[in-house]
Amino acid sequence: MTMDKKVAIFLFGRPASGKGTQAKILSDKTGFYHFTTSREGKEYINAHDDEQTKRQAELYKAGKLFLPEWTSRVVLEKTREIIKMAKGIIYDGTPRTLYEAKAVFPEMVKLLGKENVYVLLIDISVEEFKRRVEKRLICNRDSRHVYIRSDSLMPGTKCPDGDGVLETRDLDKKEVLQMRTDEYAEKTIPAIKFIEGLHTITTINGEQSVENVHKDIIEALNL
Ligand SMILES: [Zn+2]
Repeated sequence: MTMDKKVAIFLFGRPASGKGTQAKILSDKTGFYHFTTSREGKEYINAHDDEQTKRQAELYKAGKLFLPEWTSRVVLEKTREIIKMAKGIIYDGTPRTLYEAKAVFPEMVKLLGKENVYVLLIDISVEEFKRRVEKRLICNRDSRHVYIRSDSLMPGTKCPDGDGVLETRDLDKKEVLQMRTDEYAEKTIPAIKFIEGLHTITTINGEQSVENVHKDIIEALNL
């Protein structure tokens, strides 16, 4: 990887694959911008008041996902802004749907050049996913603070990254777990398949320690 060029790194993986954690570590190490659709979407809502954006604010309040058309617009507009300042952007689970992949991915390649776009899939099995979700704790103040239950980290423990408290979430309930699994299979896998038709995807074994997954990512990126 040549550091004088701007890069985009797309990290994919089913829920609980550790992609959020890996995106954060990689961002801390490289200074690349850590991009999550939910956070950028919320910021965009606060800064814009057109009709389409107002509707997304209502969807968000109702606990629903942003519409793909609007999400694609936000991802592209934000990317064009961020890339002026940042040396690179790490996309944490974006694009989430086939619609978004078609709208966003070819544009990114055009913007940065094919050789500067990296796509990594952090792979864990469905069994590993279920095992991890059962042990997962999330901060009640910031959903990016995710931990695995241990002797020192339990529901009610103060969040190591801020003022929040760690708790299990609705995601731990069986039906929500099933919904998230289905969503990944039905929406995100087609997006990944579409990208696979255009680009090389490097699969990373996600069933290793955080450190070893990170090492494999660095190796794949040639950093
Ligand atoms: Zn926290």
